[in-house]
Amino acid sequence: MTDDRTAALKARVCDAIDARADEIIAFAKDVQAEPELGYKEVKTTEKVVSLFEDLDLDVETELAITGARARAGSGDFVAAVLGELDALVNPDHPMADPETGAVHACGHNAQLAHLVGTAFGLVGSGVVSDLDGAVEFVAVPAEEYLDLDYRRGLLEAGDIEFFGGKQELIRRGYVDDWDAAAMMHAGSDTPERTITSNFSTNGFVGKFVTYRGTEAHAGAAPEEGVNALNAAMLGMNAVHAQRERFRDEDHVRVHPIITRGGDGVNVVPAEVTMESYVRAASVEAVADANESVNRALAAGAMGVGGDVEIEDYPGYMPLRTDETIVAFYDENARDIVGPDAVTAGTPHLSGSTDMGDITQLVPGIHPWTGGFEGAVHARDFRVVDEEMAYVIPAKLTACTLVDLLTSPEAMAAVREAKAEKRGREEYLDAVRSLRTTTTESYRD
Ligand SMILES: [Zn+2]
Ligand SMILES: [Zn+2]
Repeated sequence: MTDDRTAALKARVCDAIDARADEIIAFAKDVQAEPELGYKEVKTTEKVVSLFEDLDLDVETELAITGARARAGSGDFVAAVLGELDALVNPDHPMADPETGAVHACGHNAQLAHLVGTAFGLVGSGVVSDLDGAVEFVAVPAEEYLDLDYRRGLLEAGDIEFFGGKQELIRRGYVDDWDAAAMMHAGSDTPERTITSNFSTNGFVGKFVTYRGTEAHAGAAPEEGVNALNAAMLGMNAVHAQRERFRDEDHVRVHPIITRGGDGVNVVPAEVTMESYVRAASVEAVADANESVNRALAAGAMGVGGDVEIEDYPGYMPLRTDETIVAFYDENARDIVGPDAVTAGTPHLSGSTDMGDITQLVPGIHPWTGGFEGAVHARDFRVVDEEMAYVIPAKLTACTLVDLLTSPEAMAAVREAKAEKRGREEYLDAVRSLRTTTTESYRD
């Protein structure tokens, strides 16, 4: 396709988004006003569905408990645009729901604005029918890895196998025919109009640890007890003693918390529970670090002569961004936002996202875009530039998809990149291998 023709399609897409900018912003605020946690995003899904239906799209719902998707255009190359539905818990945030503590302090409402905005741009303008591929718009449940007691209940009931919504979409086969995947994410502490598009992230294992001892009167007869809190403290310190063996390039992060530390101060604690993640830059490094962390945790039980149970659950896979799509994205960012909009370098970020799982199978992008003040998840996180936060990212993704889906060479390059990635079964084997329960008993 000629450059002129591509430029004309992009102009139509951007005009269609500008024409509905106020509506996109109002939608983002409406989602923000009713935050819902993962796998509970019923109202939020309905809000997205009603806008998809306004575009005359056929919508499928309940992808993984919640969630929705709609496909537009034709051709056997499929590009997915994703938006995360869920909020997180931070009761100290001024916009938190007073009952649940849920709040959009990770900007997922901006992702949904981006999702519907991209649909307004590509479908509302009619441009999607001029492309050599289809675009699937997907509202995805449960990105934040939290509220885990609830999710373990879903898991035990057989409603889900994985805590992450994108992992569930993969397991259920929704991702099988995707050739490319695009989303955006609110940049942390990024009020200015800048974009970081080319980077990698850590993967992780999630961990529940239970130390069991024997209760006893803490004053009259502590010698008859086995102190599970002492076991936990020894275990945690043994974890800290592993840190000098973690290689810098693996970006290992281990950050345990105690979730139950004892029940009454005059009783020797008989049961103490902890949660942790073990994160690292590659699947192999996660597995290595996790093995030494589990050994260290067991040492706590050995030290006091108690029991330990360690339940490991798959966390998220490391994210890798796709060069071809990033190159288009950056070019559009320079055109639309400004020549200095794209930050230099290809950083590694030690946080994690289940978009990482998607990029293990499908070439994709997960750019961090500006317009947000305060750190993501923190109480002072807020939007300071509504156009940048809610409207411009939709133009960037829509124009990137125009570039990709009008270029046979680029589509071939992305397909080639996909051929080198994992298939669904290989992915599922890798993720399932991280689900283990280890129990050790050191009773006298
Ligand atoms: Zn988050
Ligand atoms: Zn997020």
